[in-house]
Amino acid sequence: MPRFYITTAIDYVNSRPHLGTAYEKVCADVIARYKRLSGFDTFFLMGNDEHSQNVYKSATEQGLDPLTYCDRMEEIFQNTWRSLDLSYDDFIRTTQARHKAAVTDLVQRIYDADDIYEGVYEGWYCVGCEAFKPEKELVNGRCPEHPQQEPQWIKEKNYFFRLSKYQQPLLEHFQQHPEFSVPETRRNEQLRLLESGLDDISISRAGQAWGIPLPWDPKSVVYVWFDALINYAAAVGLGTDAERLETWWPADVHLIGKDITRFHTVIWPAMLMSAGLPLPKCVFAHGFMTVNDQRMSKSNPATIIDPLDAAKRHGVDPLRLYLAKEVVFGDDGDFSWDRFDERYNADLANNLGNLVSRVTAMAHQYRQGRLVPVGDSSPRLRDVSNDVVQAYRRAMDELAITNAAASIFRLIDATNLHIAETAPWALAKDPSQADRLTQVLFDAAEAIRLAAVLLSPIIPASSREILRRVGATSDSLNLDRDARWRPEGERVLIQGAPLWPRFEKKTSKEKLVSEPVPPTQEPVAQNPAPGTATDQRISIDQFMNVELRTAKVIAAEAVPKSKKLIKLQVDLGTEQRTILAGIAEAYQPDSLVGRTIVIVANLKPAKLMGIESNGMVLAASPEGGKPVLVTVDAEPGWRVR
Ligand SMILES: [Zn+2]
Repeated sequence: MPRFYITTAIDYVNSRPHLGTAYEKVCADVIARYKRLSGFDTFFLMGNDEHSQNVYKSATEQGLDPLTYCDRMEEIFQNTWRSLDLSYDDFIRTTQARHKAAVTDLVQRIYDADDIYEGVYEGWYCVGCEAFKPEKELVNGRCPEHPQQEPQWIKEKNYFFRLSKYQQPLLEHFQQHPEFSVPETRRNEQLRLLESGLDDISISRAGQAWGIPLPWDPKSVVYVWFDALINYAAAVGLGTDAERLETWWPADVHLIGKDITRFHTVIWPAMLMSAGLPLPKCVFAHGFMTVNDQRMSKSNPATIIDPLDAAKRHGVDPLRLYLAKEVVFGDDGDFSWDRFDERYNADLANNLGNLVSRVTAMAHQYRQGRLVPVGDSSPRLRDVSNDVVQAYRRAMDELAITNAAASIFRLIDATNLHIAETAPWALAKDPSQADRLTQVLFDAAEAIRLAAVLLSPIIPASSREILRRVGATSDSLNLDRDARWRPEGERVLIQGAPLWPRFEKKTSKEKLVSEPVPPTQEPVAQNPAPGTATDQRISIDQFMNVELRTAKVIAAEAVPKSKKLIKLQVDLGTEQRTILAGIAEAYQPDSLVGRTIVIVANLKPAKLMGIESNGMVLAASPEGGKPVLVTVDAEPGWRVR
């Protein structure tokens, strides 16, 4: 069985995990689960970095000994990670005996290679970064990352690592292995740094109690960064189990934040070269996550989101999907509650969840839940699914998890289209179409099964539930075996509560002119609810008489002499139209261009201020207040119902 070893950065335990930390771990989990699904014997490592002066300080301030403090923090971290359904195989702590053994082993190897010498370090040290800071990096005498802290001036006996000796070997490694440092932007940054030359670095601190002593000079401890990097090899047996090290080292992927790329693509490989150990195959640096476009920072509490709070909003899997799908892996990305709500409704409530409900409901309404294929599968749906599986695998193999997630939604969209075009509720009225109806529903269930298999690394628990509902097993899934269109076999579908109920913001005063209705109810709500004879409700047919469609605004201008009207040019995919909208008090015309709005497409034309308006724009308005346009995340021309 091929092996795959993936690690994440280990976290300082002087603060709690936040959404940015969780982002990295979720992405690593998606990759690890994908590799297991692909038949790899996978080892997924996470852990905590405990030999930090900040940890020592925080512990002392709370009157705890540092190890007790670290034990408590470990509980908080692991509780968070388990709650997010992370499937790590091991959790290393740098205070563990196995890590100390590995650090001792590695620094001794480097010492024996004559790559460590004694010297004096004199200069600035930022405790916030736990890093030596050259004068030129300080701004107004402070570390730009930690302007609230005074950097320390240090003059002490240090041991230095001959990093400069590895400039040429590293350059060669970068050239021979372009896959070693990704994405390319990070690789190029490090290449430029390498080309400009490397200074030797201090790797020890003198006179400190908290850390791992140097084997040849126990009065000095290993500098926390040098110590931390070694965890990746410690977890697979360096210094404790040579056979295990042989089996699992080198790591296939170190997943890290882009700010620590230098430590991982320059210093760590040089340490390994000096120690005579192979280098990791790939260091993938992900981008930063911002909150409402602001960088996360303790001085701005609104940007510090506890991942467990985010998971409480819509569930763990919706959060995982958002992190994997909405932030281009490798780039910076943003989180906002509004965007999270919007994507939850769009991807899960209205799309995937709705599809599962409809198909299981129709299978029960028309076939008592049992579907046995009677003819050929829909060639189009089968082709799309084959395409999607290929695109998904290609993307995942390149760690392009955003693209992989997006490709699955192509299959989900195609399945929705399959239902819309074949109209099972119409087939059900015609006895001569009985076989076709069975096949249409079978194909839809099969496409959902495939989508759920592909989604299993991203939303594992939901994927299992979807598989159960479409009558498939979720036990030991295998991509080669299970991500293939299966034209045969009986399926027994199971109905259940909505997987993801639509999220409605609690707005007390706002009244929507027209709330877009998710396309749930055609097949099952044909009969009016009992006891509605005297009320004002309309039938589904009456509602369907109103043709609502999405439209993209391509131009907008004020109507001369009118305070209220804006003239819009909109694109419906198949045609363009002019529509007048009474929204000038709320919107600047320019701000409307590019938005996708909802219009009543089958309204009789009307002339206003000498201009013919073909349709009506939907907007919500509070009593006596300004209108808010109904905008959607959709392509132009889609039917809204
Ligand atoms: Zn700093």
